[in-house]
Amino acid sequence: MFDCDKCGLCCIGLDRNEITAQLHDGDGICRHLDMETMLCRIYENRPIFCNIEGYYDEFLKDEMEKEEFMRLNYEACLLKKQEWEECGKDIRRMISRIPQLDEENEKIIRASLEKAEQMEVL
Ligand code: SF4
Ligand code: SF4
Repeated sequence: MFDCDKCGLCCIGLDRNEITAQLHDGDGICRHLDMETMLCRIYENRPIFCNIEGYYDEFLKDEMEKEEFMRLNYEACLLKKQEWEECGKDIRRMISRIPQLDEENEKIIRASLEKAEQMEVL
């Protein structure tokens, strides 16, 4: 069984991929993703391309070894986590360069930071 830590990172950035583009409304975030829990709200009925094992069984079992497909997916997960970490660093760098924030903007940025910390981005 694929060892997914439920980070939800494969459910954002969907605008980069033609296959997953149908799942977002312009922001790249899947409309089925619960942003509080980062879990899929339609997990049992998610599309086949969101189901690593199901996708393998349906389309790839005659093409490659399952271990190889799993390994490729673990690599893809790791890449997403690294990109996300870099993104967090960029946000921190940007914030540190803003000399003065008015109260309203500061509130918005602090709320975004809290959310990012909950999601373990930063
Ligand atoms: S990126 Fe990988 S570990 Fe994170 S939810 Fe998706 S499959 Fe699971
Ligand atoms: S359908 Fe579910 S598993 Fe697939 S991208 Fe959306 S939230 Fe993620």
